[in-house]
Amino acid sequence: MALNTDTPPREVAATDGVQDVKRTTCCIVGGGPGGAVLALLLAQKGVDVTLLEAHPDFDREFRGDTIHPSVMEILDQLGLADPLLELRHTKVRNLTLRTPTGPFTPVDFGRLKTKYPYITMMPQTSFLQFITQEAKRYPNFRLKMSARVRELIEEEGVIRGVRYEEKEGKRHEVRALLTVGADGRGSRVRRLAGFEPIKTSPPMDVLWFKLPREEGDPEGAMGRFGRGHIGGLLDRFDYWQAGYVIPKGTYPELRAAGIEALKQAFAELIPEFADRLEHLKDWKQVSLLSVESSRCPKWYRAGLLLIGDAAHVMSPVGGVGINYAIQDAVVAANVLAEPLKKSQSQLKDLNISSLAAVQRRRELPTRVIQRLQALIQQRVLAPALGSDRPFAPPALLRLLLRVPVLRDLTARIVAFGVWPVRVRE
Ligand SMILES: Cc1cc2nc3c(=O)[nH]c(=O)nc-3n(C[C@H](O)[C@H](O)[C@H](O)COP(=O)(O)OP(=O)(O)OC[C@H]3O[C@@H](n4cnc5c(N)ncnc54)[C@H](O)[C@@H]3O)c2cc1C
Repeated sequence: MALNTDTPPREVAATDGVQDVKRTTCCIVGGGPGGAVLALLLAQKGVDVTLLEAHPDFDREFRGDTIHPSVMEILDQLGLADPLLELRHTKVRNLTLRTPTGPFTPVDFGRLKTKYPYITMMPQTSFLQFITQEAKRYPNFRLKMSARVRELIEEEGVIRGVRYEEKEGKRHEVRALLTVGADGRGSRVRRLAGFEPIKTSPPMDVLWFKLPREEGDPEGAMGRFGRGHIGGLLDRFDYWQAGYVIPKGTYPELRAAGIEALKQAFAELIPEFADRLEHLKDWKQVSLLSVESSRCPKWYRAGLLLIGDAAHVMSPVGGVGINYAIQDAVVAANVLAEPLKKSQSQLKDLNISSLAAVQRRRELPTRVIQRLQALIQQRVLAPALGSDRPFAPPALLRLLLRVPVLRDLTARIVAFGVWPVRVRE
């Protein structure tokens, strides 16, 4: 069936209480790292793209702040790495955990052959503002904030766009040749499209709270393993974001023990921050994050594609989820830009085989990394959380990481994922 997709987006008659209907070529739901980078890449390649983000800004409580070497290399290809590095950031050159038996460095980026042998730590708000600001230079890009997608438009089995709601409840329609669900772990698009993810439940949850920053504090991030406890701090420049890992399902028990028990446990883990815990007075200041991991058997159907966490929820282990979402975006733009432009000019539907090609290229790297994350969860994190003995990294792991080639391979996988990707020129 032919589609009428004119550019730039234009208004057509609205129906069913919908205020207006706009047309575009690609409608991306979700302005996280995956959605924002895909929007920028498609806009650069001359595809009409509309990015819909449910929130009024990019500031969110649960946001990873890492930009991996692979993402820096992608930005370098686009001429955007240097401008990004002008924004406030810190650099993490290795991942060192302080354990009761001494420091343990499972990942050292120093030996990687890359211009960016470090993780750039930057509030994700700054990163997303930077990417969308860049995309706004293209007249074929449109960003709509406070636009929460509620429904998919489906005609004869093909997804033809979405209906979204603004704050005051006003409803709007965006009709598109391709709708991309980049709406994260709780993806509504995934559910509306009828995809059922295969879930694995990592053996942990995370408590998330803020601690004040003081002058003279170190920069960057830190991770600590204690007796049955794991925790860490992320530098958000104005404050510290604290994460405290607990065995799955033990939150009610911890809560019943009172906030003082949490403060004491965290103070034991990171004693130099003990005085800051005074700031924690109430459980209202603490959020529980249920850690999940999953993947959809199928990431596409006619007119629709899922990328990033919407297609495969990544556990926080190794902090690779943002990297993977952006790599999905790069592959989707590489594969789909030309077919989208062709379909747009010929007023034809997009061939579903192009959507299948995106999943084909990204599924194996995703499955491999999720398997590795599960292994670390089961072999390292779960025993550490369940024990009241001082944590010691498994002897085999220490031994393997002494072999230079294996040590470099670990750093390479964290930095670039299992299958590095580049933007097709
Ligand atoms: C506690 C925690 C810490 C983590 N730390 C790291 C880390 O340090 N490094 C790392 O790489 N990964 C980390 N991860 C994983 C990482 O956050 C995800 O893998 C990554 O954010 C996925 O990116 P995305 O673009 O697919 O989705 P998201 O980043 O989840 O973005 C989805 C976007 O869609 C929007 N949205 C949702 N529903 C709708 C709707 N109906 N309509 C319109 N918009 C909608 C949301 O507001 C959001 O902006 C962490 C995860 C957790 C839970």
